[in-house]
Amino acid sequence: MKRTGMTRSLDTLGRIVIPMEIRNSMGIKIGEPLEFFMNVEKGFMGIGKYSSGVSCNLCNSFQDLTYFNSLLLCKQCILDLKGNVGVSPIPAPVVKQPMYKEKKVNRSTQELVESLRRLVREHPAAKQNEYAKRLGVSQGRISQLKKLL
Ligand SMILES: [Zn+2]
Repeated sequence: MKRTGMTRSLDTLGRIVIPMEIRNSMGIKIGEPLEFFMNVEKGFMGIGKYSSGVSCNLCNSFQDLTYFNSLLLCKQCILDLKGNVGVSPIPAPVVKQPMYKEKKVNRSTQELVESLRRLVREHPAAKQNEYAKRLGVSQGRISQLKKLL
């Protein structure tokens, strides 16, 4: 909200003229309903375009309104829609393909798997921590490697 510097006096019937500059910059046309707002404590009132939902859902026009699939639209917007006026196609949303991560097995892992395979073959009764000790890796690593066996 900014001060416009424009002032008008009420006439004897309580009317004011809304300056043309304000009407133009607000896009208010003659005959358009306006709504009053007020804040008594602050001694402030404002005027806004009246929109109670009884205006076109697309352009806020009040003329030639019709319901179109439960949306209130004006005749002009319906015509525009019929003629595809102002329609710009929206590209279909790109659906992200789910990423299937290939299990990357690097060389050292492959070597470890080979060693573990050998160890398991030679010492099938050994415990996980013994394999870990022999291969010089953690027990957690052994259980990971076992899945790759
Ligand atoms: Zn409209």
